[in-house]
Amino acid sequence: SPRVLSGIQPTADSFHLGNYLGAVRQYVALQEGHDAFYCVVDLHAITVDYQPEALRRRSRIAAAQLFAVGLDPERSTVFVQSHVREHTELAWVLMCLTGMGEAGRMTQFKDKSAKYGESSAGVGLFTYPILQAADILLYGADKVPVGADQKQHLELTRDLAQRFNHRFGETFTLPEPYIVKGVEKITDLQEPTAKMSKSSSSPAGILDLLEQPGPLRKKVMRAVTDTGTEIAFDEENKPGIANLLRILSALTATPIPDLEARYAGQGYGTFKKDVAEAVVETFTPIRERTEKLLADEDELDKLLAAGAARARAVAAETMAKVRDRAGFLPAP
Ligand code: ATP
Ligand code: MG
Repeated sequence: SPRVLSGIQPTADSFHLGNYLGAVRQYVALQEGHDAFYCVVDLHAITVDYQPEALRRRSRIAAAQLFAVGLDPERSTVFVQSHVREHTELAWVLMCLTGMGEAGRMTQFKDKSAKYGESSAGVGLFTYPILQAADILLYGADKVPVGADQKQHLELTRDLAQRFNHRFGETFTLPEPYIVKGVEKITDLQEPTAKMSKSSSSPAGILDLLEQPGPLRKKVMRAVTDTGTEIAFDEENKPGIANLLRILSALTATPIPDLEARYAGQGYGTFKKDVAEAVVETFTPIRERTEKLLADEDELDKLLAAGAARARAVAAETMAKVRDRAGFLPAP
């Protein structure tokens, strides 16, 4: 069956609604009928400022959330990126095939490095998309479920795969991004044209999967909207309402035109209350399951060890081919 791979960073104490709708919910759907690999990309998480203790905690929280949303350890290979050393090894080979200009065009680097000033951002932040390409190519992924912000990185991945294949012989599968329309960019509640983000959203702008119902409701009720009264999907003029419509539509499997009709003539208050309830209803069981999984660290670590063993077997096979084709002597 076709291969799927995706990664999520342990850069916060919880995933947020954008991660859930744009990525993690698709992971669960895709474990049906696919050979799926999902990793907590801790090596990516150290490309920005971090504390070792927080990274350890967040890596376990991220893994627990993946199981809590419904990934089945029997069907999906869930693992931690740093447990599989081939990721960094392949990244090096791919870095040597990447042009400086090519890497320099990545908009995520431009956005994230702006925070530090481009010259003091780490080199790892610059080469991040190349490590991501290695993550994907190691497993021969056909499909990569991601949000719209990762589209450019997927294009780079395809270019690098093609370049390697052209120079050294057919080795890598060219992966396709799997981006679901309507949920590819959930925006910040306080800044409804910007992506909701673990590392750059303000607390009021982000809905965390592990948050309690009280704060979740409050944030939805305080979400920035326009001064009008009409509940209509108008991305350009009503980005806040458009975002809430997309959220309610995705959480309740109701087409947006049906929602527009349902809320015609009603104020923003009623609509927002319903959005808040849908969020709380979805998040609460996930939070409870995550808490249970985190209460037994040994069991969680066991699941991750089993995932790592399965991932390693595939990664080692790919890397053996790469080493040979790229001209390295057999390891003694
Ligand atoms: P960071 O700000 O640290 O980069 P993030 O919120 O972007 O965190 P990632 O771990 O980088 O989260 O991304 C995990 C997955 O979630 C990726 O597939 C990404 O495209 C997707 N994603 C992130 N934010 C959103 C969003 N607002 N809407 C839809 N998908 C998103
Ligand atoms: Mg991100």
